[in-house]
Amino acid sequence: MLRRTFLTYSGVAPFLDATSEKGNVLVAGGHPGDPEYGCGGTIAKLTKAGYRVTILYLNRGEKGCRVMNADCGSLRTREAENACRILGATPTFGKEVDGEAVVDNAAYSSFDELIGSHRPELIITHWPIDNHRDHRAISMLSYDAWHSRRATCSLYYYEVTDGEDTVMFSPTYYVDITAEEALKRKACFAHASQSPERFYKIQSDITRFRGSQVGCVHAEGFIRCAGSRAHPILTS
Ligand SMILES: [Zn+2]
Repeated sequence: MLRRTFLTYSGVAPFLDATSEKGNVLVAGGHPGDPEYGCGGTIAKLTKAGYRVTILYLNRGEKGCRVMNADCGSLRTREAENACRILGATPTFGKEVDGEAVVDNAAYSSFDELIGSHRPELIITHWPIDNHRDHRAISMLSYDAWHSRRATCSLYYYEVTDGEDTVMFSPTYYVDITAEEALKRKACFAHASQSPERFYKIQSDITRFRGSQVGCVHAEGFIRCAGSRAHPILTS
């Protein structure tokens, strides 16, 4: 059954007000730009509503520049910091290397400590079936950190460039991001080294398609992990 969250049509509850105290949300992604492309509209919506959102990047994307001789990791770190500023979120970075993801006992311990230090009540991460191994890695590391906190923390998955990276993704929850789409676009274009003029269109096509599934212009789709408690922001 589809859950239509945050949607302003059809009489569902309006989004949470920004006046009361809200908790911590951690959004994890493989590289700078992934969380912004996958669920930047929802991040903007959360921060506007008063949630403290941290974006955790597995690495600094140091192999992902098309500019020769650029200090790619530093450049993409600055881009991520700017994108987070636009969305009202706080960036943090794992110590893994772009394209060389390691998922072993040491990595599980390290990310468990890092994610736990943010005391999240909600974790949103990559869908685990994805063509990029870094995306699969942060998904596994996030899952592991969530599992020991599942009594107090929820886990949801987002999609990126569906079909190209994320595969086999059928959302069960939707967030209407029509009002936040311009801000999301700005955050994604902060990643200027990553050809946003090409890639943003793909993601925009996806949010338009997701929007068409639930009757709004732009929406982001999510799947709640089996065994996860429902988080109020994705069930109303
Ligand atoms: Zn990526």
